[in-house]
Amino acid sequence: MRKALFVFDTSVDPGQLVSFCTQAGIDSPILHPGFFDDDLFLTALRRSGLKVWMNLPVFFDEGYLNDNPDAYSITSFGNRAAYSWLHMVCPSQDKYIDLKLRQFHNLIKKIHPDYISYDFIRFYVFWEQVELDNPADTIEHGCYCPECQRRYLKFSGERLSLTNRIVERSQRELLGEWKKTVITEITRKLNDMVNEAAQGTPIYIKTIPWKTADLDHGIAWISGQDIERLGSISDGIIPMALTQILGQTSHWKKDLLDHVKATTGKEVMSYIQFEPLIRRTAITNEQVDIEIQTAIKEKRAGLIYFHYEQIMANAEKQRVVVKYRTV
Ligand SMILES: [Zn+2]
Repeated sequence: MRKALFVFDTSVDPGQLVSFCTQAGIDSPILHPGFFDDDLFLTALRRSGLKVWMNLPVFFDEGYLNDNPDAYSITSFGNRAAYSWLHMVCPSQDKYIDLKLRQFHNLIKKIHPDYISYDFIRFYVFWEQVELDNPADTIEHGCYCPECQRRYLKFSGERLSLTNRIVERSQRELLGEWKKTVITEITRKLNDMVNEAAQGTPIYIKTIPWKTADLDHGIAWISGQDIERLGSISDGIIPMALTQILGQTSHWKKDLLDHVKATTGKEVMSYIQFEPLIRRTAITNEQVDIEIQTAIKEKRAGLIYFHYEQIMANAEKQRVVVKYRTV
């Protein structure tokens, strides 16, 4: 079974990363562009025979937003789309998109990754804190900047309006259609760019872990992610099915992964979360073990371990991972 591993901290030791991956049967660390500022990681991975999985954050760029604060997405609460570690650019910022296309193109041409994933390819929402069982009305989301308002009016013939920070129910379907068009079009541009730089590289798309009908079809009118269309123009959708963050169960996770598989007709990889995030509820070694076993039993397309830094801080959880090295 394929196994991939998210790594975030560029100061980790490349040799140690390679050694852990080899020991745990992980074939590809998932690295953001910051890992390729020099050749240390690339050289270590290539020498060891590991695959390079490059994760591209599409609308998440805090550095760009520091220099171009006008490019921030504006939320339904009238705020800049900045929450905790997340800083998101408005998807109607053509200048930003052109810049990203050039940057990613140069990087892919230089590195020739084995896999590519698009991350933060959506309108703003901090989904980690959204309760799936609550009404969708009061979820803070983007984008309500003047340019998005202008483009929505042009697309739909109606004004994008909020009443007490809430999108009218009657407007949600059309708003979803517009947002899905925007995100799908950007995905196509990214695909063209990848094909130009390194044709044939498998492309995956990370999506928020909501089923189509969740939160009054929020995945459409809040995030703009059209699972069916995105699935048809990529090698697979990877829903961020982090069970603990959302206070959910293994049953929920199975439902979600099966839903994405049925919608796209493609096998789905399974996220494995190791330590609590957002909520305080603990994740035991047994729970991690069962999540891995379940993904194997359900014949998922692969395991995505989330994430290296947390696993390295816990010797017992490392042992759980290593136990499945040959599966
Ligand atoms: Zn906007």
